[in-house]
Amino acid sequence: SAGPGLKVISTLSVGFDHLALEEIKKRGIRVGYTPDVLTDATAELSVALLLATCRRLPEAVEEVKTGGWTTWKPLWMCGYGLSDSTVGIIGLGRIGQAIARRLKPFGVKRFLYTGSRPKPESAAEFQAEFVPLTRLAEESDFVVVTCALTPDTKGMCNKDFFSRMKKTSVFINTSRGAVVNQEDLYDALVSGQIAAAGLDVTTPEPLPTDHPLLSLKNCVILPHIGSATYATRSTMAVLAAENLLAGLRGERMPHELQL
Ligand code: NDP
Repeated sequence: SAGPGLKVISTLSVGFDHLALEEIKKRGIRVGYTPDVLTDATAELSVALLLATCRRLPEAVEEVKTGGWTTWKPLWMCGYGLSDSTVGIIGLGRIGQAIARRLKPFGVKRFLYTGSRPKPESAAEFQAEFVPLTRLAEESDFVVVTCALTPDTKGMCNKDFFSRMKKTSVFINTSRGAVVNQEDLYDALVSGQIAAAGLDVTTPEPLPTDHPLLSLKNCVILPHIGSATYATRSTMAVLAAENLLAGLRGERMPHELQL
């Protein structure tokens, strides 16, 4: 709708699944994006969401507020911990590695990862093992999704995937909502096929307040706040502006998407 005057697009994100890349390429439009600068903030939020989900923090806070906290009971509000666990990372990219780096000191025993190809240089730091998606689902206590949304990854976490997961496993997605088939996730959570899920991203966004997933105690949903620290958003904004100006001047962008 901008017409032939549109020369440069600058997105305040590392993800570019919202851009019509074929059309953009055809029109010779340049695209700037903001990788790297949001990696730490997004990894931090992913760890926070994982811990909040596996230790049931939102549910526990609610119990305190509503009087559900009564006498001490040995199994009340129990969840799952990271010590001696196996963590499976779908997409060991910048954010996936930053999450693994943060989770390792919690006592994780084994890291698995999957992607389009093994990445021995990235995996070495965590002695992470490259496995097919099915094995990652079967063996992980925690599944963390950090891949880009592409035609290949769309709907990748579906009924078959969840049915392979352990009943005690926790599923975390901070990539893009469409990587997950949400109906299948809902069924897996309701039937006890998996223990819990933490989502920073959903389909659609915002998620309607009457969405079935919001009725589940074992599903923690955040409003896409992965990179939302003041410092990170400020750095992203400056980078996005620099990308845009460089693009308009016909200069090299600090971070240009190679189309
Ligand atoms: P990277 O490009 O560094 O990593 C993306 C990873 O996706 C790569 O490791 C790639 O693996 C993997 N991948 C691609 N295809 C597949 C596949 N078929 N199966 C499994 N993995 C695959 O990007 P970042 O780490 O910087 O960001 C990752 C994503 O996180 C972004 O695309 C964005 O959607 C999301 N994000 C979400 C935020 C939030 O607020 N929640 C904030 C920032 C980012 P390989 O190289 O092997 O193909």
